Amino acid sequence: MPDVHAKLSASGAKRWMSCPGSVQMEEGYADTTSVFAEEGTAAHSLAELMLMFKADKINKRTFTRRLNKFKSENAYYSPSMFDYITEYTDFVIEKLNSYEDAFIDLELRVDFSQWVPEGFGTSDVVIIADGTLEIIDLKYGKGVPVSAEENPQMMLYALGASSEYDFMYEFDKVRMTIVQPRLNDHSTYELPLSELQAWGDECVRPAAELALSGEGPCVPSEPACRFCKAKAVCRARAEVNLAAARLDFEEPPAKLSKEEIAEILLQAPEIKKWIEHVENYALAQARDHGETFPGMKLVEGRSNRVITDKEKAAELLQEAGFEDVFKPRELLTLTRLEKAVGKDSFNDVLADLIIKPAGKPALVSEADKRPEISSTSSAIEDFKNL
Ligand code: SF4
Repeated sequence: MPDVHAKLSASGAKRWMSCPGSVQMEEGYADTTSVFAEEGTAAHSLAELMLMFKADKINKRTFTRRLNKFKSENAYYSPSMFDYITEYTDFVIEKLNSYEDAFIDLELRVDFSQWVPEGFGTSDVVIIADGTLEIIDLKYGKGVPVSAEENPQMMLYALGASSEYDFMYEFDKVRMTIVQPRLNDHSTYELPLSELQAWGDECVRPAAELALSGEGPCVPSEPACRFCKAKAVCRARAEVNLAAARLDFEEPPAKLSKEEIAEILLQAPEIKKWIEHVENYALAQARDHGETFPGMKLVEGRSNRVITDKEKAAELLQEAGFEDVFKPRELLTLTRLEKAVGKDSFNDVLADLIIKPAGKPALVSEADKRPEISSTSSAIEDFKNL
């Protein structure tokens, strides 16, 4: 579940721990939301409801009543959301049932202020059994896989949950799992409680103090800057990207070497992203607040003609004797179809008709996890045939 307005939030820990200056830089920016965040909140509410039922915290009647209410009132509900959340909740219940005698808590407000002033968050699932504290987190996004390995958000939740329960239960091991049902992915990280506490004392507490002192430096990095509210106006980030763009090339020959081309391409994704952030920021300032930027002006973009009343237009065309003016019936896009009929039905009915064609070849960093293909591979031939 997203953290609500903690200054040093668990979800932002990766950023403020590596870039302490970001806390001050972000001051004054309003919290924003997006359809993805709202959809994620809806998915979490559905997950909580389903888990309450599956963990016997509510009866079938209450569950059905609340589920129907949720379906009718929540604009983000879809059959495929139901299927994905069923998958996630089955995972949690399977985990719970794998223990003899387990305790489960849902949507626990975890307080980690012992390490981070005013630090709190909400942990989706906490299970305690067999000397282990388990934290499970649902991520409903389908953008990038999120690893639980040394994930500071999960580790802060675990610190908070451990201090909540350590006087009631005995555990010396902590296991953290992130489940991403839409990516068919889950990742787990485990460590002794003593190591988690040492991380809290030796890494988190000093990082939080520095971040709140207002004297921490701005330290750009891709994971830190990605969600920073100051990413478009941050000088440290601009300097790093401009320095990267001013690559030190060897003197002539006039043509770039393969090494130099590789260097440009490896820097390009981050520089492109940064330019896009600066462009979006400046446009919003000019369009919404009347700001001006030296040497630039706000103009009307290109636009296409539109029909203001399609029904009326069809009527007039038919009256004028033109019959062939409608689009043929078209199938919904794959994503919308899956959403409309639900993931399971979609797979049952269309399994034989869905293929995943070869992807467009891309030149990426060696560190990328995808396997290398050669220019003579069948994937490239398949792509050319497409
Ligand atoms: S943009 Fe990056 S470097 Fe700048 S404050 Fe934000 S996280 Fe730090």
